Amino acid sequence: MEAKWKEWLKTSNYQPKINLENHDTIGMLCIDKNGDLSGACTTSGLGYKMRGRVGDSPIIGSGLFVDNEVGAATATGMGEEVVKTVGSFLIVELMRSGMSPQVACEEAVQRVVAKQKGKPSFQVGFIAVNTARVVGSYSIHSGFSYTYYENGKAINKPSKSIYKTI
Ligand code: ASP
Repeated sequence: MEAKWKEWLKTSNYQPKINLENHDTIGMLCIDKNGDLSGACTTSGLGYKMRGRVGDSPIIGSGLFVDNEVGAATATGMGEEVVKTVGSFLIVELMRSGMSPQVACEEAVQRVVAKQKGKPSFQVGFIAVNTARVVGSYSIHSGFSYTYYENGKAINKPSKSIYKTI
């Protein structure tokens, strides 16, 4: 495996490899009975990454942001692109200015896509919740889903996306 990675380094031109369903970040957003918010984000990052690469997940504001007065958001997918928009912070700020979690997630995904020429080959997805317990999610491509848990019931919900297929 290390030999393969070293071979890849010679020609990669730093085009990190992540396919649409190769992202594995798990982001969790919680709101308790008192209305207090919390969040967590964990990832293995990308395969074939450069030494020292830091994705979006460990950067507060990019992979995760929680503001107890407003709401919380977290990201999965191509971290390099999420970092460029500070996506989770962006979503919380958009919610602060009155957007619903759904519309805020859509705006954040659109900003990621707007930096690309044409249809991106990578995935980025966000989920968000506000203090009114309203949730939202959106991704570039279909296939992203999240689990909504309340009153002992967990429901898996597919996220809306810009593109239905690759
Ligand atoms: N967001 C992660 C990163 O860029 C990758 C993933 O979602 O699996 O490090």
